[in-house]
Amino acid sequence: MYTSNESRFSIGEQSETIRKQFWRSDFKQCPMCKSPNIADKRWLVEIRHNGDVCGTIVYQCLGEETADDIKDFEWIDFTKRLEGRHGCGFFTSYFFDENVPGDDRYETHGWIKEESY
Ligand SMILES: [Zn+2]
Repeated sequence: MYTSNESRFSIGEQSETIRKQFWRSDFKQCPMCKSPNIADKRWLVEIRHNGDVCGTIVYQCLGEETADDIKDFEWIDFTKRLEGRHGCGFFTSYFFDENVPGDDRYETHGWIKEESY
């Protein structure tokens, strides 16, 4: 079993406006270059006795690359990103916790899809 006292981290773009914009696209479109190619990885911080996990999910823009193009790339523990340079450079993170009802990316609870900005 993997356990760690490491706390959840935040990385990359942390502007709430941009993170909400990305969330409104269901995490499927880069808010910067509009690319539909987005890589994601869940970094686990903790696995509880009931099997629920929590941690940080990182999204990274791939630009013209597809999921197939990056399947041989490693996610780097130090940077929390894919090795090499990808897309427009956009990446961001959200906390997640499988113990939370609804969307486990619980920071998004209360965010409003129709909000104008
Ligand atoms: Zn992009």
